Amino acid sequence: MTPYSRAAILAVGSELLTPSRIDTNSLFITEQLNLLGIEVAFKTVVGDDREELANAVRIALGRVDLLVCSGGLGPTDDDVTREVVAEVLNRALVEDERIASRIRTRFESRGMTMPDINRRQAMVPVGARVLANANGTAPGLWIDDGTRSVILLPGPPRELKPMMMSLVEGPLGERAPGLSLVRRVIRITGRTESHTEEAMRPLYAEWAGRPVPIAATILASLGQIELHLSARAASREGADAALEAASREVSEVIGLDVYSRDGRALEEVLGDLLIARALRIAVAESCTGGLVTSRLTDVPGSSRYVDRAVVTYSNEAKIELLGVPAALIEQHGAVSEPVALAMAEGIRSRAGANVGIGVTGIAGPGGGTAQKPVGMVAIAALVTGTSRSRTFSFIGGREQVKFQASQAALDMVRRMLVV
Ligand code: ATP
Ligand code: MG
Repeated sequence: MTPYSRAAILAVGSELLTPSRIDTNSLFITEQLNLLGIEVAFKTVVGDDREELANAVRIALGRVDLLVCSGGLGPTDDDVTREVVAEVLNRALVEDERIASRIRTRFESRGMTMPDINRRQAMVPVGARVLANANGTAPGLWIDDGTRSVILLPGPPRELKPMMMSLVEGPLGERAPGLSLVRRVIRITGRTESHTEEAMRPLYAEWAGRPVPIAATILASLGQIELHLSARAASREGADAALEAASREVSEVIGLDVYSRDGRALEEVLGDLLIARALRIAVAESCTGGLVTSRLTDVPGSSRYVDRAVVTYSNEAKIELLGVPAALIEQHGAVSEPVALAMAEGIRSRAGANVGIGVTGIAGPGGGTAQKPVGMVAIAALVTGTSRSRTFSFIGGREQVKFQASQAALDMVRRMLVV
C-alpha cells in the first residue's frame, strides 16, 4: 500500500461557526497524524449544510489522499456528513443490521427503546469499513476510494479520541510514511483528571523538546485516568527507551496513584501482587453485588489467589454468613466502616485467607438519606494483620457507583500490598 502523502481535516458542525465554540478535534487529529509522519495540508470548518459540506469534501479530495472528518454522524436531520460523503463518493447507503442491533442494545441497557431516527446511524456506504465507537452510538466509517481514504468520526471528543488513536495503531499506521510509533498506556486511580493534568504539565513541556519527543493524551473514564504516551523515532528500540524513561518520570510525579505502566488492568496488577506474596483473598460484598469478585476472577489463573466470596445484601445475611454482630449494625448502620471491617474479617477468617475485603454502600437511586446519601460506600481491607477502611462518596447512577466501589476496593488492597 502506498503511504499517505498529505491529509486534510474537515470539522463539521454549525456550532463551530459561532463565536462560542471552537474546533478542537482537528488539533487532536493533527497531533495523531503527525505522530505517523503524515502532514496536514489544510483544514476546513463547515456548518451542517449539505451543499457547503459536499463542496468542502470535493475540494479536499482533489488535493489530498487522506481526509478525516469529525462530527455530523448523529441521528438528527442536521447530521448529514455520512449522507453527503456517500453521495460525493457515489456510494449507496445500506442499513447494517449489526450496527442497528448494537445501538438498540445500548438503549435497552438503559431501559429505553431506540428511537427510529437512530437507524440513520446504522447506514453504511457500500464498501465502507465500520469503526467501533466504545463511548457513543454513532460508529465511525472508513471509505477507501482508489488510493484515497476518507475517515468519518463522531464529533464528541471523548468518542473521537480513542477511535482516532486505535486507527493510528492500526490501519493508519500501516500507511504511514516511515518512522516507528510506539505507545504506552499508564493507568492512574485515586485522583481526578485535573489534578493529574496539573501535576503532569511541567513534564509535558519538557517531553515536547526532547530528541525523541513524547506526546501525551489524557483520557478520563469512571474511576480511572489513562495517560497515553507516544514516541516516534527512527527505530522501535529508540521509541521504547524514550517511553520507558518517560513512564518512570510519571511514576515519580504521580506516585502510588499510578497502578500500571504497561496498560495492565487493576485486577491483573492486584493478582500479580497476590501471587508474588503468596497470599489468598476472600471478599464480602453488599452494594457491588459480586462485581469485585467478578473483576478479580476475570484474570486467568485467579484460582491461585481467590478463595471465596459472598454477596450479603441483607443485614441478616451479614450476620448469618459473616458473623457481623447485630449490635454493630444497630449502632453504626449497615453502611459504615465498622460493618465493612467486620464483613472483611468475617469472610477472611472463615476462608482462612490472608486478605479480606468488605464493601457496603448505597448504590441508589433510592435508599439514600441526608446522613448517608446515594453513592456513599464504606470499604475495608485486611492484609496480613493490618486493616484499612474508608468511606467514599461516588457520583453517578447505580452502575457507576458499583464500578467505582469495585475500583476503590481493589485499589485499597493494591496500595496495602505495594508499600
Ligand atoms: P452526536 O451523535 O453527538 O450528534 P455527531 O457526530 O453528530 O455526534 P456533532 O453533533 O457534530 O457530532 O457534535 C456533538 C458535540 O461534539 C458538539 O456539541 C461539540 O460539543 C462536540 N464537537 C463536535 N465537533 C467538534 C470539534 N470539531 N471540536 C470540538 N468539539 C466538537
Ligand atoms: Mg450531532
